[in-house]
Amino acid sequence: MYAEDLKTKNMTKSAKGTIENPGTKIRQKSGLNRAILRTGFYGLTQAISWQLEKTGGILEKVHPAYTSCECPVCGFCDKKNRPKQAVFHCIACGHHQNADTVGAMNVLRKGRTDPSAHVKKSASPVQ
Ligand SMILES: [Zn+2]
Repeated sequence: MYAEDLKTKNMTKSAKGTIENPGTKIRQKSGLNRAILRTGFYGLTQAISWQLEKTGGILEKVHPAYTSCECPVCGFCDKKNRPKQAVFHCIACGHHQNADTVGAMNVLRKGRTDPSAHVKKSASPVQ
């Protein structure tokens, strides 16, 4: 099984900015941050990994780069393939699909075919 290696610590950084360079959409970002933390992405992947290991499976984390902008049909990758947060529309071949579905397909394909995309596990301390 494969999962995106999402850095929730980076994802939930404040949008406040500084006095000289104030952030935008602070209230919306604050709400998104709360939702990410409440959902508990990290705890969820830990629980899935634990359950898989009990049955002989393994959860492989995949680097999330380009998983949201690459077309699963023709392979063209561009930020413009995501005209809206929930919509994927390839500007090269016209493929249209739910953006989350495309992201999941790309994570699965990268996990199966691109070992270099696998996130290296940090070594456990020897005791
Ligand atoms: Zn395409």
